Amino acid sequence: MSQKIIIIGTGPAALTTSSILSARPNKYEVEIFEKENRPGGLAASIDIFNQTVDLGPHRFFTHDKEVSDFWLEASKRKTAKVKRLTRIFYKNKFFSYPLKPFEALCKLGIGPSIAVIFSYLKQKIKPEKNITTFEGWVSRRFGKKLFRIFFKTYSEKLWGLSCKELDADFASQRIKKLSLASAVFSAFSLKKTKHKTLVDEFDYPKGGAGSVYDGLAKQMQENGVEIHFNKAVKGVRIKDNKVIGCILEDGTFKEADSIISTMPIDQLLIHSEGIDDNIKTLAKKLKFRNTVLVYTKILSNNLFPDQWLYIHNTNTDTGRISNFRNWVPELYNNEEGSVLCLEYWCNTEDELWTAPNSVFEDIAKNDLQKTGLNKNIEPNEYKIVRLKDSYPIYFYGYKDVLAPIVEYIKTIEGLHLIGRGGSYKYNNQDHSIKMGLLLADNIINGAEHDLWAVNTDFDSYQEGENANS
Ligand SMILES: Cc1cc2nc3c(=O)[nH]c(=O)nc-3n(C[C@H](O)[C@H](O)[C@H](O)COP(=O)(O)OP(=O)(O)OC[C@H]3O[C@@H](n4cnc5c(N)ncnc54)[C@H](O)[C@@H]3O)c2cc1C
Repeated sequence: MSQKIIIIGTGPAALTTSSILSARPNKYEVEIFEKENRPGGLAASIDIFNQTVDLGPHRFFTHDKEVSDFWLEASKRKTAKVKRLTRIFYKNKFFSYPLKPFEALCKLGIGPSIAVIFSYLKQKIKPEKNITTFEGWVSRRFGKKLFRIFFKTYSEKLWGLSCKELDADFASQRIKKLSLASAVFSAFSLKKTKHKTLVDEFDYPKGGAGSVYDGLAKQMQENGVEIHFNKAVKGVRIKDNKVIGCILEDGTFKEADSIISTMPIDQLLIHSEGIDDNIKTLAKKLKFRNTVLVYTKILSNNLFPDQWLYIHNTNTDTGRISNFRNWVPELYNNEEGSVLCLEYWCNTEDELWTAPNSVFEDIAKNDLQKTGLNKNIEPNEYKIVRLKDSYPIYFYGYKDVLAPIVEYIKTIEGLHLIGRGGSYKYNNQDHSIKMGLLLADNIINGAEHDLWAVNTDFDSYQEGENANS
């Protein structure tokens, strides 16, 4: 008899495992519930202004062959190479990433540059003691001055916390091993090899990042797998330390032998039945940050050449601006103009989260004027997209909250939590696909991969990635 497996979500993690399990219909009966009306999760693509765009910039990158093969296969190899250009915009000047020493020196000015070098050298002589916070970790590696210029503003906008209240995990997962010295060395080096965080070229699906997941979902549906869109799951039901099914938002109970969940871990645990009360209390302490994407179309094809820019100006609210004219021509087709996406972040309890769209349109319009990136051409259309729970927050001390939850979940038979929200890990697509692949191997072959170790600071499961995605 086949095993009944319910999967919550249709993002990269869920679709990876479900596509592998559903290819064995005699062994596994897969049923999927998704709260949105489309697959792809945070990595979906949408059509606006007659063009295709992603939910913020989505560059796929991995050193893991298995992940890369899976993704390329799922994209049906309809990809194109994109030459990466993503710079930092600070004081209305563009700074290359990785930093080019002479360029940075000229653009920062002699005074600030000397201060950068001295504060870097100071860390060599008297290193920062507390490197468990984001501020301490980055300052020790780059010096305080560089931290303030190139890390503090962006990170505090993104997380809504002081960098002293952020765990160093955020830094160590994303800028691991990269130091000022390695950036400078890379700029001077004649050797073509680059640090793994500094790749110059990446593969991008011609139909947008989400086309990969649209394809996976479609293929499964054609093979008879039921995907229920617009059907949110409330939680799971646990009896005698075993999951016995899930409860939908409308109250319906669905029986299952196993549940694979990629919905935010706190919501799942808080609303499940049969979960230890202490675990529910801990789950309430986990926090997610929301993203508001403001898309606008500007009638010019040549605003700036980057795929995205990190905005380090302190006088703007946006933290990143993407330009979908600069990915692949298939996205904009024959349309004139550039679709920009300005990113804003807030918490659910912030007034801004529920502010009318017109508020975001005004903020974005002002930000564009302040940066001058719109070349004084007025935007003529807007579209606002809200992404709830898009970033698990690595607040200082979060690991102490998460550790007992993880231990508890490991004791529940048949309950598997994977993915960015599901495992409370700041995953990129590749990390979520990796989790999906390893989980399929655990279920099918009885392998014992520790999924909670993916995208932590272990080399075996860590893929270099510097982008703050
Ligand atoms: C602005 C932005 C930029 C990014 N840039 C990059 C990048 O450049 N490169 C990169 O690789 N990654 C990037 N990412 C990260 C990437 O989007 C994620 O790593 C990836 O989507 C995670 O996949 P997942 O399956 O783990 O989770 P998700 O994509 O979050 O999927 C979870 C799924 O569960 C569904 N769900 C949630 N709650 C329920 C419920 N109650 N019931 C039913 N279904 C539910 C959701 O709708 C969603 O479909 C970026 C993310 C953001 C927000």
